[in-house]
Amino acid sequence: MCWFKITPLKLLFTTMQSYQLFITLSKTLGIQIGRLGLFAFPKGKYVYSGSAKKNMEKRIARHLKKKKSLHWHIDYLLANDGAKVVKVVKSKLVECDLNVAARGKAVVRGFGSSDCKEGCKSHLKFLG
Ligand SMILES: [Zn+2]
Repeated sequence: MCWFKITPLKLLFTTMQSYQLFITLSKTLGIQIGRLGLFAFPKGKYVYSGSAKKNMEKRIARHLKKKKSLHWHIDYLLANDGAKVVKVVKSKLVECDLNVAARGKAVVRGFGSSDCKEGCKSHLKFLG
């Protein structure tokens, strides 16, 4: 039995369940991320990995809106005028696998990863 052939087949029948937001921050900002605390976000590019097994489109539309009630960590970053989502990528992988595969470094420990089971330091990575 060849396991290499099984994985892609399994993915073929899996629906989109996660997404990545590619974000640019136009200047270095200090942003209060809810109860997590106040953090300095260096100017540059970021990638955020999230999951939405249902209502993926609605979730993404919500991320793109500036005016909203701030609920998730990512809301606090994206509500900022200096932050802009430049690209959205949907995936069949689980969010943690997507996150692990993304290069970059964690600048805020615990960002978006409160319910993470894979031990990701952060679901937001700074790409530079
Ligand atoms: Zn994770």
